[in-house]
Amino acid sequence: MAELIELKHIYQRYEVGDQEVTVLEDINLTVREGEFLGILGPSGSGKSTLLRIIAGLVKPTSGTVLYRGQALTGVNPGVGFVFQTFALFPWLTVLENVELGLKQKNLTPAERRKKALEAIDIVGLDGFENAYPKELSGGMRQRVGFGRALAVEPDLLLMDEPFSALDVLTAENLRRDFLELWLEKKLPTKAVILVTHGIEELVYMADRAVVLSGHPAHVVADVAIDLPHWRDREDPAFMARVDELYRVLTRKEREVEHRPVVPEEKRFTPVPPVRAGAMTGLIEMLEDMDGKADLYRLADDLVLDVEDFLPIVQGVELLGFARVEAGDIELTPKGMAFAEASVLERKDIFRQQVLERVPALKRIIHVIKSKSNRRLPREFLLEILERQFGASEAQRQLETLVDWGRYAEVIGYDEHTHNLFLEEFFDDGNEQ
Ligand code: ADP
Ligand code: MG
Repeated sequence: MAELIELKHIYQRYEVGDQEVTVLEDINLTVREGEFLGILGPSGSGKSTLLRIIAGLVKPTSGTVLYRGQALTGVNPGVGFVFQTFALFPWLTVLENVELGLKQKNLTPAERRKKALEAIDIVGLDGFENAYPKELSGGMRQRVGFGRALAVEPDLLLMDEPFSALDVLTAENLRRDFLELWLEKKLPTKAVILVTHGIEELVYMADRAVVLSGHPAHVVADVAIDLPHWRDREDPAFMARVDELYRVLTRKEREVEHRPVVPEEKRFTPVPPVRAGAMTGLIEMLEDMDGKADLYRLADDLVLDVEDFLPIVQGVELLGFARVEAGDIELTPKGMAFAEASVLERKDIFRQQVLERVPALKRIIHVIKSKSNRRLPREFLLEILERQFGASEAQRQLETLVDWGRYAEVIGYDEHTHNLFLEEFFDDGNEQ
């Protein structure tokens, strides 16, 4: 089948303060006619950025985007875009909102109206042409968004988490309706890219899964979902595909950090942004399940999104309380001991693990110790972390480290002076 989009060695970097942050690293991807591609990745991994690059809304720092073999120089003329939520104009009717998508095209008003009406028909809004957005439910408003994107009869439809702002039933209805249109070839579009953080959603709808991961993000998997439609979520083959993608997402990466400004020996190993209390909760839950559980089912039981759940799993793994293997999570003997311990004993175990396995925390302790009053303004540490992580990630890293340090009763934080200090009785044995 003809190649619609080819991405060649796409890199995307942003200036954050005086830092350059690489978001996408060497992305190579081909999308052909007939494909329904799903892109999966944690929040902040660069999925939206990648779609915007394909749409020609963002020019990549380096690399080439080919659309039907031609290098893209501006906005991609063959693309329709569906967002998580649409900015519909409240003073325009459904029909007028959909017609807006056609403003760029050289059409007579009559042609424009005809195409808009066709799109409205396709998305099931027949009879609502003259309604105003405020008269519509959330699901219907999202249908207007789909209509606006489809009205231009795009070669390629890009969808950025289009179902994630809807309630469960509405989302499921819209997914099914969309898939039916696609499978019955009723959509005026030749290929679809769906960005999502829902693994099940992807396996339900798409025929190929691309997983983005890491900092900077790169493609860690590109696999066919070759199950026949309609797919049944209870089918073992379906669950196996979900499990497989889950495994790819949770796989530890042997990453090379690409932040040239901070020399390697001075870099902090990042911690997953999760509170000690959340890790404790997971450990207790695993103990109740005899120490072992299927990760995907666990996330499902907790009604959590992968992206909320992953940091907790990574946290307990980092601290040596659990092991993840082949999609299963299992408590280690240390994790078991923690689960069975009293509150005070837990703090001891936690402290021991944190000091052994979180070098960033040890470094912070070292810095605090180097001060004669053993107090350190939070801002000082934040600035050091910002050099490596950029502002918002530095904040998250510090909050996490302080939370862990407080739980372990190693460091304290004075909310009034914004100072970090060492707990009076804490001594890690390395006096310096
Ligand atoms: P996702 O859609 O996977 O959640 P995004 O593509 O929105 O991720 O963002 C990826 C990363 O790029 C984030 O860390 C975000 O802060 C950063 N980013 C996106 N756009 C810009 C920008 N214009 N300037 C600086 N950083 C940006
Ligand atoms: Mg996004």
